[in-house]
Amino acid sequence: MTPAVRVRFGDLAREFAELQPACSAAIERVLGRGWFVLGDEVRGFEQEFAAWVGARECVGCGSGTDALTLALRALEIGPGDEVITVANTCGPTVVGIENAGARVRLVDAEPGSLMLDVAGLEAACTPRTRAIVPVHLYGAAVSMDPLLDVARRRGLRVVEDCAQSHGSTWRGRKTGTFGDIAAFSFYPSKNLGAAGDGGACVTDAPGLAERLRQLRNYGQSSRYTHATRGINSRLDELQAALLRVKLPHVERMNRRRVAIAARYAVLAATSAGVRPLELAADVGPVHHLYPVRHRRRDELQTFLRSRGIETFIHYPIPIHRQPAFADLGYRPGSMPVAEQAAGELLSLPMHPWLTEGEVDAVIEAVQAFARAERAA
Ligand SMILES: *Cc1c(COP(=O)(O)O)cnc(C)c1O
Repeated sequence: MTPAVRVRFGDLAREFAELQPACSAAIERVLGRGWFVLGDEVRGFEQEFAAWVGARECVGCGSGTDALTLALRALEIGPGDEVITVANTCGPTVVGIENAGARVRLVDAEPGSLMLDVAGLEAACTPRTRAIVPVHLYGAAVSMDPLLDVARRRGLRVVEDCAQSHGSTWRGRKTGTFGDIAAFSFYPSKNLGAAGDGGACVTDAPGLAERLRQLRNYGQSSRYTHATRGINSRLDELQAALLRVKLPHVERMNRRRVAIAARYAVLAATSAGVRPLELAADVGPVHHLYPVRHRRRDELQTFLRSRGIETFIHYPIPIHRQPAFADLGYRPGSMPVAEQAAGELLSLPMHPWLTEGEVDAVIEAVQAFARAERAA
């Protein structure tokens, strides 16, 4: 019999319990107004989110995946073009790029941080390469200064995948402000999440924002005039209204994640075999996830499950080993860092509503596993 879950990996019902009156008022406001797509709430959220990120423009859309596609299309990147990203990311990064019609080229991850390894970029460039999509995975940040150097030297565009990095920084500057466009997701479990799907592009270029607004709305420049071939990918008023309720709380919730991570950091010294990621001092993380590495990851996960602690693996199969992406043409062994990490990573419970007692329970269980291993 599987024991009851005592520490859940995520718990959005606790968030709603905290913000309930404001969320309910927002929903009633939208229903009462009777306007549901691209209205005042979306416009208001776009302004507030752009200001929060520190960008001039924000364009809401249907998902983080669509945000990546729209960003590349706004930059006129598509069929015949290549876009570089990292083998250690989740599938939608690649889906978003391929939906623009471009071909994905991969680089391996850095051994310590598991972020995109900037040292591999030059070798992955071909005459068809048009853009780099750095993924600020786990709520950390890619080494942006060296990445931007390569982009500048090679004349490449940069579209940041910020789906896991709302508020994280590189050398004190927020992720999402480095590239030509940044793609955000508001999938419910992200650091800023809607009550359904949602996404956004942010940019400093008003011309790109204008193109993004057309592309997300069937390519229309004004009602019934199609300036370009677009898609339907819009943020709706209900999601925008809920995101406006939650946005003022993101910094506080990120601080709570950082405090929990600081407590988990004790594991490196007290649990032999458990290795947290090694992030550069340049990174100000917001800990969307808290992955640790262990050679006997599956046993650790089973042990934690037996103690009622829910964990997940991010990610068990690197991009180039996925059945769907076999035709990208990468052999097994070609991305050694991402491949080894996939067998060792385990994400511990991480969300702002974890109690101190729950954090204690996770730490004690991981320590107990390490003790039992040493005794064996
Ligand atoms: C969640 C996520 C996406 C996709 O976002 P959706 O809103 O689910 O489409 C893309 N990239 C990364 C790194 C993600 O974590």
